[in-house]
Amino acid sequence: MFQKVLIANRGEIALRILRACKELGIQTVAVHSTADANAMHVRLADESVCIGPPSAKDSYLNIPSILAACEITGADAVHPGYGFLSENARFAKILGEHKVTFIGPSAHHIEIMGDKITAKKTAVELGIPVVPGSAGAVESDEEALRTAKEIGYPVLIKATAGGGGRGMKVAKSEKDVLEAWSTARTEAKAAFGNDSVYMEKYLGKPRHIEVQVLGDGQGNAVHLGVRDCSLQRRHQKVWEEAGGPTILPKERDEIGEICAVAMRKLKYAGAGTIEFLYENGEFYFIEMNTRLQVEHPVTERITGIDIVYEQIRVASGEKLSMTQDKVQFYGHAIEVRINAEDPQTFAPSPGTITFYHPAGGVGVRVDSAVYQGYKIPPYYDSLIGKLIVYGRTRDECLQRLRRAIDEFVVDGIKTTLPLFQRLIREPDILAGNYDIHWLEKYLAENKV
Ligand code: ADP
Repeated sequence: MFQKVLIANRGEIALRILRACKELGIQTVAVHSTADANAMHVRLADESVCIGPPSAKDSYLNIPSILAACEITGADAVHPGYGFLSENARFAKILGEHKVTFIGPSAHHIEIMGDKITAKKTAVELGIPVVPGSAGAVESDEEALRTAKEIGYPVLIKATAGGGGRGMKVAKSEKDVLEAWSTARTEAKAAFGNDSVYMEKYLGKPRHIEVQVLGDGQGNAVHLGVRDCSLQRRHQKVWEEAGGPTILPKERDEIGEICAVAMRKLKYAGAGTIEFLYENGEFYFIEMNTRLQVEHPVTERITGIDIVYEQIRVASGEKLSMTQDKVQFYGHAIEVRINAEDPQTFAPSPGTITFYHPAGGVGVRVDSAVYQGYKIPPYYDSLIGKLIVYGRTRDECLQRLRRAIDEFVVDGIKTTLPLFQRLIREPDILAGNYDIHWLEKYLAENKV
């Protein structure tokens, strides 16, 4: 086991990882930018190192600074959290060259899943169902027209290097294809410096369903069931459920097993998430994230498994602590993301928290790194906390969530809590009747 882990992240996830390390008896090192000198992760860690000025590219993304922090403190492993360097294959490789363990999958697995065409090809080879589409990049007008005809309209043109929903264009019929193809290429070039695009069947009313997997790199892997993350705004998840409202246990076990078998074949190490669109009873792979996800607590809640423990254990060379038959699912859990944003316009709302009272009580978990008097810096992601609620049934979970949202107070800044106060009273949400477009439509129709 590791002696000392450096946490290359900030905010709630740095705290989440720190807590796991403390429970495992591992010393912790926090790194921080000058803007985060008073942050909670810095206060709670055994040691801390300032790695640069506020801008993330000079601090949390600054590989030489983080390496130097490892050397100064003698950390033998780095947990990257999510975002920042968590899916940077080069970072994983460089750490290895310096005899520091990257707590995550191999650089090779990060690389193949980071390129969407390679990821999709790999998924096909591993027997994971994918969205019907082009075999690789679509490189000419003729190929675009021919492929679209083969797939059937509407089609979606997507950037190979894509992320955050950028470089995506829908073509409804033959007359839109060439324009959509060339706009997608231009956007992809501008956003990612790479104009390679591919084509997929466009699904009209899918849900976003993802499978949590864990592997130990020695050929053992399990799935921890599914999460429904269909409530999204601009392809950003807002509300996540485990024990999804529409996925039956049988479907969960089937798609989960397909993913677990695939991870065993890959000899995948660490935590990962395989994301699907789900429509008319079918699953279609869209991508794999080779890291811990923001929404991992809902899975922890319904399985009782600490995903961060497992990440740390397998990175240190231990086997997974469970086999598939030991993974059981209890009840329902929902997470809502509390962002420092205007609940109408979603404009960021940094500033000082003048009063803070998190929800509590039975079945409530709050993962956050803020406190009364904390000043939210304007430089980073606006996520300030996650409210995770459990119930034996979805209805019990919703009742408890309504109570917890009403109880939660954050003053001094704007947050997305008022949005959740509305959503938790919406009949479609209560009935579990929503797809990936529901929230955007609701927001457009309910402008105040
Ligand atoms: P990114 O990496 O840019 O987020 P993804 O492939 O994960 O790209 O897709 C982002 C979102 O775009 C999905 O969550 C879904 O909302 C939508 N999307 C992606 N592929 C399709 C598709 N074939 N049909 C309909 N919507 C899609």
